[in-house]
Amino acid sequence: MSFSSDIKDELIRVDYGRECCRKAEIAAILRTGLIFRKTKKNKSLTFITEHGPLSRYLYTQIKHIVKKGPEIYGEKTPRLKKHVVYRIDFNNFLESSEQRSFLEGIGIIFDVDKEIIEYRKYDIKDRCCIRSYLRGGFLSVGSLTNPDKSYHLELNFQDKMIQTEYMGYMEYFNLKPKHITRKNYEIVYLKEGQDIVDYLNVIGAHNALMEMENVRIMKEMRNQVNRIVNCETANLEKTVNAAVNQVEYIKYIDGAIGLENLPPALKEIARLRLENTHASLSELGKMLSPELSKSGVNHRLRKLEKIAEDLKQKEQ
Ligand SMILES: [Zn+2]
Repeated sequence: MSFSSDIKDELIRVDYGRECCRKAEIAAILRTGLIFRKTKKNKSLTFITEHGPLSRYLYTQIKHIVKKGPEIYGEKTPRLKKHVVYRIDFNNFLESSEQRSFLEGIGIIFDVDKEIIEYRKYDIKDRCCIRSYLRGGFLSVGSLTNPDKSYHLELNFQDKMIQTEYMGYMEYFNLKPKHITRKNYEIVYLKEGQDIVDYLNVIGAHNALMEMENVRIMKEMRNQVNRIVNCETANLEKTVNAAVNQVEYIKYIDGAIGLENLPPALKEIARLRLENTHASLSELGKMLSPELSKSGVNHRLRKLEKIAEDLKQKEQ
């Protein structure tokens, strides 16, 4: 199962707390997820989800409030045979006044003449209810990529006002959501690991939060190890390449004038370099008596390089 699906499993087990919070959660699920469809054959006011437990949860929660609840179906999609979607049908809600006033109570007005859903602003005062509203929104239209791959949390809204309102409630908890419009959707998203962790904390997805933190720590450690390894590899390569080059010009000098004709200090370091091709400059320095620093060794090798270059020039 996906990470999003795991979070939703967890969220529907969260104790919503008070009755006011239950209502706020249902309000968010329906305000963000309810759709009206009209075909030649029929009209439908429906909530659709691929998440079975969510469909059962929503159905049960509404039944607590409204005597005659919606109808629930599970159906295979024609395209993917194994793929099941769950539909909760609210068609009967358009007829009876009890059910209509339930929808109106959460700011959902169905305009029968125009056949469109209209939303009124849903004002929530209590912190506990805002939390529940945010949780409901994620249950309905939220998704989060597996943190092993990348950090991306997204909520897809169909309605501009609902999206603005939801962002406002996120900001109430000092979250910093971003927004873009893509096709017919208003998309609110978070991309920073820390922002996502804060959001999961607000909506009460504590297991998901822990898992995400673990992945973040592992990633950070892996990056650190990689940085060190890369750095060492790069340095080693540089040292080896330099040594190969040094051996080449020392051999050239030997062929051209003979190492024995070099000043003693240079002759000594040239010999050592040929005999110890894998040694670093500071290791070469320690082989000398008296010992010589890395930069001292480097200085002498530079001199040798210069001699080799001069010899090459004369040759031409
Ligand atoms: Zn509440």
